[in-house]
Amino acid sequence: MFSRLASRQLAASRAASRTLASPSASWNRGMKVLAILYRGGEAAKQEPRLLGTVENELGLRSWLESQGHEFIVSDDKEGPNSVLSQHIKDAEVVITTPFHPGYLTKDLIDTAKNLKVCVTAGVGSDHVDLNAAVDRKIQVLEVTGSNVTSVAEHVVMTILLLVRNFVPAHEMIERGDWMVSDIARNAFDLEGKVVGTIGAGRIGYRVLERLMPFDTKEHLYYDYAALPQEAEKKVRARRVEDLKEMVSQCDVVTVNAPLHEGTKGLVNADLLKHFKKGAWLVNTARGAICDKDAVAAALKSGQLTGYGGDVWNVQPAPKDHVWRTMKNSLGAGNGMVPHYSGTTLDAQARYAAGTRSILENYFKGQAQNPANIIVGVGKYESKAYGQR
Ligand code: NAD
Repeated sequence: MFSRLASRQLAASRAASRTLASPSASWNRGMKVLAILYRGGEAAKQEPRLLGTVENELGLRSWLESQGHEFIVSDDKEGPNSVLSQHIKDAEVVITTPFHPGYLTKDLIDTAKNLKVCVTAGVGSDHVDLNAAVDRKIQVLEVTGSNVTSVAEHVVMTILLLVRNFVPAHEMIERGDWMVSDIARNAFDLEGKVVGTIGAGRIGYRVLERLMPFDTKEHLYYDYAALPQEAEKKVRARRVEDLKEMVSQCDVVTVNAPLHEGTKGLVNADLLKHFKKGAWLVNTARGAICDKDAVAAALKSGQLTGYGGDVWNVQPAPKDHVWRTMKNSLGAGNGMVPHYSGTTLDAQARYAAGTRSILENYFKGQAQNPANIIVGVGKYESKAYGQR
């Protein structure tokens, strides 16, 4: 794929060669590695490729133990008596996954006297207080790129299922009913629509690439980093520097930026007023980028026709979370699922292998792949988490 990512990675690589030899790990020293993963239950026993689960432990246990390291794995992450709170006190490495995030707040990081590295098994490290990690010289590494295609496919699917009014059509069939007009009254083609992405990095760009065969009218993007002209041309993308102006032109808006100080609550009641009336909004980036209640209200009022995605402001989402059941005035427009777009079995194989490779580098004191470094020793290495 042509991308500005290559030049970004080159710049990062130069910086990395100056700063990123692993700071203090010594080969073969027994250390405590703590992993917070999601519980896989029966499915994980039956399907060993569910690597990102408590049961299958990213495939790391025998390898880590053969080197004398202690490996604690749990899904217990809430409250002062949780496995996370107890074991983080002396763990040197913490692995967590965005699908069941161990929230590493500043308070928790303050108790982690021995912590040197946080690894995200996946992409998106907002569950770590990154500023606190910078201050404490804790590295934050993720398996960059490991699931970006998985997510881009999910975004395209969700755009289609909302625009074409798929979910209520399927539910009608399961109920035993058949009333074509009830579905068709709110079903459209994607062809000829304007699609805009907030964030045009690895996922946002791949979404636009995958939309090309649908003969959409135009692709817009809002990102503080401009794409190279050739990359823009390839996906017929036009950069709009004002977010309100961009959303006012879009039939479909998709959110593909990381969660940080500059994106938390970015899609709020004020911004939603600027959306084209009846637009569709898809967010697989992070739930907290969209204001929960403002989105539900916009769907109810008809300002949005549909909202879909897989990310929630708190995960697991509480049973009464309004996004589970919110609907538009026609009783449709909800494309929400649990957080799984980036944890397909294909993605799990990639992020499990990537996690192992990050650990190997750390244990051996070798440089990390620069693209994987969100926070290096004492400073941000990635530009994706806000302009600093
Ligand atoms: P990336 O770093 O390649 O791209 C992110 C882009 O967002 C960058 O171009 C950056 O400049 C831009 N950006 C940052 N702040 C912005 C802002 N305020 N406004 C507009 N653009 C902004 O990251 P990626 O691999 O494309 O992933 C993006 C995010 O998607 C991740 O951080 C993660 O939160 C989420 N994600 C979700 C899943 C899932 O399973 N649902 C899986 C992977 C990633």
